[in-house]
Amino acid sequence: MALDTLDSKIAGHVVYPVGGAVVDDEGELVTTGDKDSHYVPEAVSFENYVKDYLNGEGKTLLDYLGNVKGKRMVKIKGVGSAELEDKVYAAIIKNNDEGILLSNGKGAGFEQRVNDFAATYGISEDMAKEYIIAHEIVHAHDYHDEGQTEAVLCEYFSYMTNNAKAPEQKAKYEKLAEVAYQRAEAQKNSEKKAA
Ligand SMILES: [Zn+2]
Repeated sequence: MALDTLDSKIAGHVVYPVGGAVVDDEGELVTTGDKDSHYVPEAVSFENYVKDYLNGEGKTLLDYLGNVKGKRMVKIKGVGSAELEDKVYAAIIKNNDEGILLSNGKGAGFEQRVNDFAATYGISEDMAKEYIIAHEIVHAHDYHDEGQTEAVLCEYFSYMTNNAKAPEQKAKYEKLAEVAYQRAEAQKNSEKKAA
């Protein structure tokens, strides 16, 4: 099995969640502490979302990042859920060329955070989920900076808008590009304030 324990794996990735669960790249479930914790269903559902995304809409993102941007993706060793900072929706914990994708399952859980994201930007929950996962996939391609990550998403969603044939697809990507633009601008402003 690829992960001995989530604890040791997470320790290698320099994040120490109090609770968490990960489905590793061999399909095995690894948990910290309590095996009945709510992070287990959180991990299983996030792993399903990520898998669905990468087998569907996400294929074009992978293609874009690889072929247009010339980036390589880290090897995803596991997908799960953990206790992350409150304002965080999801995260990728990287260690050299490996990474673990985590949703923030803390408190009310990831689904509630998706609802909040959708409400903030006036988009559907499916679009919010797609956005959040796409953001982490961009991080998985050697983009660390938040502003740069949102800018790459904005470029990608604009590219998808221009290439979409069905009007509803065009409308969806246009809206997602707008969200990315807003988030990239918000990052610029917070950097200005910080500087
Ligand atoms: Zn990020």
